[in-house]
Amino acid sequence: MITIDGSQGEGGGQVIRTSLALSMITGKAFEVRNVRGRRKNAGLARQHLTCVLAAKKICGAEVVGAQLKSSHIKFEPGTIVPGEYHFPIGTAGSTSLVAQTVLPALLTCETASQVTVEGGTHNRMAPPFDFLKLTYLPLLNQMGPTVEATLDSYGFYPAGGGKISLQIQPGQRWKGLKLLERGTAKPFVKAIVSDLPETIGERECSTICRKANWPRKDSEVVTVEKPRGPGNVVLIQLASKEVTEVFSGVGEVGIRAEQVARKVLKAARNYLGAEVPVGPHLADQLMLPAAIAAMKGEATVFKTMALTQHSQTHVDIISRFLDVKIETKESGDSNVEVQISP
Ligand code: ATP
Repeated sequence: MITIDGSQGEGGGQVIRTSLALSMITGKAFEVRNVRGRRKNAGLARQHLTCVLAAKKICGAEVVGAQLKSSHIKFEPGTIVPGEYHFPIGTAGSTSLVAQTVLPALLTCETASQVTVEGGTHNRMAPPFDFLKLTYLPLLNQMGPTVEATLDSYGFYPAGGGKISLQIQPGQRWKGLKLLERGTAKPFVKAIVSDLPETIGERECSTICRKANWPRKDSEVVTVEKPRGPGNVVLIQLASKEVTEVFSGVGEVGIRAEQVARKVLKAARNYLGAEVPVGPHLADQLMLPAAIAAMKGEATVFKTMALTQHSQTHVDIISRFLDVKIETKESGDSNVEVQISP
């Protein structure tokens, strides 16, 4: 039994999700004490509980502590069964994070699966659907599998009501990735408004395009049809040869649209200035599939910006389950080359 302190490093939900994914793949049981120990609302929240129950369902695990607010869980995995699954979170919790928990396990099966997840699709502090679709999945697909994601309905906090579907086709074999250079990145700005005035999205697009000196025609405002509740997100897509990065900011009551837009532009500019292909969020999310590829004998190497605490925590959790080598080499400009190999 692998024992993990849930307050280590980032000390949030990612510790649980990565442990679940790796436990299913390796067949190794684990327990987490101090679940989400560094969060104000420690213990399992609805999204994390959905991840635990989803993992339990797809591999018939024996689980202790699968309750809301639980600060201790024990997970003994069974055999992963591919098939058709539906996971309703029941709140506006992030559908992308639930999807990323079950994907690795279903990708190591022989046959296809279909998964739908209901909840939030554009959340603060989580990958928006656009990131999943444009950034994460194309790279995962280069590693062997074919995963297609569809946005069936938008879900914003607090109303939720979003739904995503995934068609999952495992590949014959895993391949590593080599992402060392970015080159030029073509920008596109998208603002989404749900049950709110379209002018919010227009102000976000015009703030970004004006400040960055990007043509306004390379932007669009999407108004959600049949909104389930109010919400707004602004996304900057940066498409380069190997990677499309997506930077995003979620609109909040009391925060001006211009301020939301400026913050997203700042993150995009930091990335553009760093001249690496892999941004900070992608770096932490790539580590898990790269570690699985390494477990199958294939190395991945990528260049990113200074590692976040999420990334450092990911390295620690992966090392508890898998015997793979994760090396990080800093270059003088505070960028980092990450190599994950067998
Ligand atoms: P908690 O409330 O415990 O923080 P959580 O489960 O929502 O819970 P984290 O453990 O903080 O979250 O993990 C959040 C994940 O979402 C990380 O993998 C992070 O890289 C990713 N993420 C956060 N913001 C973005 C973003 N704007 N774009 C892409 N990915 C993001």
